[in-house]
Amino acid sequence: MIIGIDLGGISAKAACLGGENLLGKSSCPTSSAHTPEETARHIASLAERTATLAGVSFSHIDGIGVGAPGVIDGERGAVVSWTNFGWRDVPLAALVSRFTGKPTFLLNDANAAALGEAKYGAGKRYESCVLVTLGTGVGSGIVFGGKLFEGYRGAGGEFGHMVIRQGGELCSCGRRGCFERYASTSSLVRRTREAMENHRDSLLWRFAPSPEQANGETVFSAKAAGDGCASEVLGGYFADLAEGIANIANALRPQAILIGGAISAQGDALIVPLRRAVEPLLYAPQSFAPLDLLCAALGNDAGLYGAAQYAQDRLGAGSVH
Ligand SMILES: [Zn+2]
Repeated sequence: MIIGIDLGGISAKAACLGGENLLGKSSCPTSSAHTPEETARHIASLAERTATLAGVSFSHIDGIGVGAPGVIDGERGAVVSWTNFGWRDVPLAALVSRFTGKPTFLLNDANAAALGEAKYGAGKRYESCVLVTLGTGVGSGIVFGGKLFEGYRGAGGEFGHMVIRQGGELCSCGRRGCFERYASTSSLVRRTREAMENHRDSLLWRFAPSPEQANGETVFSAKAAGDGCASEVLGGYFADLAEGIANIANALRPQAILIGGAISAQGDALIVPLRRAVEPLLYAPQSFAPLDLLCAALGNDAGLYGAAQYAQDRLGAGSVH
């Protein structure tokens, strides 16, 4: 049995993958104040606790998969850089392996979520799919033929940093006009706040008492209540989101593009207008190569499924750390 870990800036989550189910789900806090060794030690105890909760003896755990933020070198099992934690070249897989005695494999968290959704979630019935996760930034992962496509040294698949507007807004990566500057939930919230400032009579004010209190849901609620201003904000956001989604579709043409992140809870209010905006931008017509656009299904569990699946695939391929 394999344990999947989803390492984040606030917590690390873990579960055992048993068939199609996640067993013994557990978590522990993480902090940038901890050294990489301390973090690895915490992950190791979390893994042991998870096995206990799942009712599995730790000796029956075959391996551990860890999805982590930042630039990841999957071959070496190292975090090349994780800006929020100030990590550079941290051999996390080896550290976790040292404290658990288990083969440990590392992959980028967006890739883990994509592999999880592709194998166990909304992408299950497709041979190829891309997951685009909308949050503070935009994460993405590509799965073709059941395999994760990570690019050379795992450095590829970063659609969030594909430029959709040359000379546009400055991105945290140093370039201007990146897709993530326009398609992230942060961008939607920024647009909502601006609209509130400029339209004191908008129904947006009914759903957020002040611009600071507006979140990703505010604009959807106001639109559902018939607010024209909210419609306009969403229209602009969907146009930018569609630009990037169509670029991904035209470059890779997966059978499905899945939208993940908290915003995917909006369901049809998100997907229906997005489909309408994407369709005219597709190079090969829908009638020839249908592209399904749908919401991700596993929520925060996607990363756990994917991390465990990744370790299972790597163990199966016989490349053990
Ligand atoms: Zn960027």
